[in-house]
Order: sequence, then structure tokens, then C-alpha cells
Amino acid sequence: MRATVMYQAGDVRIENVPDASVVDPTDALVRVTRACICGSDLWPYKEMAPDQGVRRMGHEAIGVVEAVGRDVRTIKVGDLVVMPFAWSDGSCAFCHEGLQTSCIHGGFFGTIEIPGAQAEAVRVPLADGTLFALPTREDDALMPSLLTLSDVMGTGHHAARMAAVRRGHKVAVIGDGAVGLCGVIAAKRLGAEQILLLGRHPDRIALARAFGATDIVTERGEAAVDRVRGLSGGFGVHSVLECVGSEQAMLSAIGITRPGGAIGRVGVPHYAAIPSSLPAFYNNITIGGGPAPVRAYIDELLPDILEGRIEPGRVFDRVTNLDGVPEGYRAMNEREAIKVMIAF
Ligand SMILES: [Zn+2]
Repeated sequence: MRATVMYQAGDVRIENVPDASVVDPTDALVRVTRACICGSDLWPYKEMAPDQGVRRMGHEAIGVVEAVGRDVRTIKVGDLVVMPFAWSDGSCAFCHEGLQTSCIHGGFFGTIEIPGAQAEAVRVPLADGTLFALPTREDDALMPSLLTLSDVMGTGHHAARMAAVRRGHKVAVIGDGAVGLCGVIAAKRLGAEQILLLGRHPDRIALARAFGATDIVTERGEAAVDRVRGLSGGFGVHSVLECVGSEQAMLSAIGITRPGGAIGRVGVPHYAAIPSSLPAFYNNITIGGGPAPVRAYIDELLPDILEGRIEPGRVFDRVTNLDGVPEGYRAMNEREAIKVMIAF
């Protein structure tokens, strides 16, 4: 079969690899019908060294189950499934608490060890706990939005939950990538009254406004902090969704959170220690977040997609086939595309 392989920064190739197959009795084999490139895939695309091994990329997919191991009970051959970016058993203490990304038997797709989903097929461990069978058909027009349940919509929702967004809140979203844009959807969905987006790309700003952003802040650093405080009545916002992962983004987040407010961080942190410890302390700011347990959120978000109340699939502004994936990485890295969908 054919799959996406990353060798080092800037070097992504489509190659023939051994066919994915059922290995353990709890596995499913999924033929991928839709996948996509994630903002987090751009970190290795920018930074991966040649001696870091070879990585089979991709952690977001929808597909059709082609085979299951003998111990798979609920997932059936022929099911159309969403594959969350992490696999999980669905039965350990953390899965029961809705934190499947901490599953004691779980792991993440598209790492050095486990082949990813930017491929014709993918092996899914712990299929019953991991996969979510969809009540729709493969050719449904809702497919782009359903694909976002594998990561970005669930991750934006997690940021909003960790930032304790409530009805009537003033909310700021840092980052205008697909996760930040889904964070705007999530904040609106949870009843935010004012939603400020910190971003500066015109196409992304237009989409953010369509999703419910009320104000756009294009400034950076101290100027951004001043602007947000001015727009939010002087004290900052109740909830900040930090969807970038840089130290500067966290500095801004702490600067714009009002006393007693909360920051939900979902951008993988590329810094060793959380900055601004003293202001965060004196303002009683809660900082939470981490990898989103998107598997836990599908039940809650799916009806809104099926009934058309939210359209997170609009973050895909480019569609390609597998051969176009290297160009898709380049386009996302150059900020020419928000998010690239791969259709098979
Ligand atoms: Zn578990």
C-alpha cells in the first residue's frame, strides 16, 4: 500500500510500504477514505533531524473497517468509523473518567513507533475502545466536518472546556489555525457572549467571523494584551483558549486573563516552564489542558454536526489525493492553506 513517510524536516514522501494488517486480536484494519494534515505535523516538518528515525505520518482519519481481530466485539467489518488521534481501551480508570489520552494501554498514531493514517489503510489497536462507528454513509456531504472529530474540533472543544467557558463569558482564542478556529466554534457553542480571536491571516479571520468571533486582534505581545483588555472592559477575559504552544502565546494568555479566569492550553508546548508565574498566581488564574480526549467528545459534538448547527469542516480549504500530500505540507507550512484534506 502507499503511505506518507517523513525522513527529516522538509522531506515528506509518498512511498510503497508493507500492507497494514490485523496483528493483535483486538486490532481493526481500516481502509482510509479521508485523512488530513495537522498543524502538529508541521513541527517535525520544521524541526525533525535526519537521525530521529523515519515517521509514518497522520493521526486523523475516517475510513471503512475491512477486517477485525477475533476479540473485537462492537466494531464490525463494513462500519464507517472515525479514528481519534489516540487509541485507547475504553475500559481503564482514565477511559472511564473520559480522559482517553491517558489510557494506560493507549498511544498516539503517527509516531515513530506506530504507523499513521496519511495512508491507504491503517492498523487500529484496541478497536472497540478507539473507533467510533458513524451513523452516516461514506459519500455524505458532512464528511469533512465528521473528519474534524478525529482531532481539531474535539481539541478546540477541549480548550474551551479547560478554559471553563460558560454562558455569557468573554473569551479569547489565541491562534488562527484549524484548532483555534474550532475553538471559536466551541466557545460559541458553549454560550460565550464575546469571542476575540488573536490572529492575522485574512482568510482565517473571515472564517473565524463566520464561526462566531466578535472581535479580531491582529497585534502581538504587549500591544495585543492592551487591545484585548480595552475590548473586554479593562480587566481581560474570563477564558483563554491557547491553541499555539509557544512561550509567547502563553505569556499573552496570562496577560489577557482576568482575575479568577482560566486558560485552556491545547497547543503542544515548545517551552520548558510556564512563564509569568507571579502574575498568574496573584490573579488566581487556572491553567489547564493537554492532549484532548477527543474520543470522549464525539457523542456530544456529533449531533450538532449531523443537524448542521456547527460546520467545522469549513477549516479544510484544500483537498488533495495521496500524491498531493507533500505539496499539502508545504502549503500549510507556508500558511497558504489552513488545513488540507486527503480524499481517497
Ligand atoms: Zn483506557
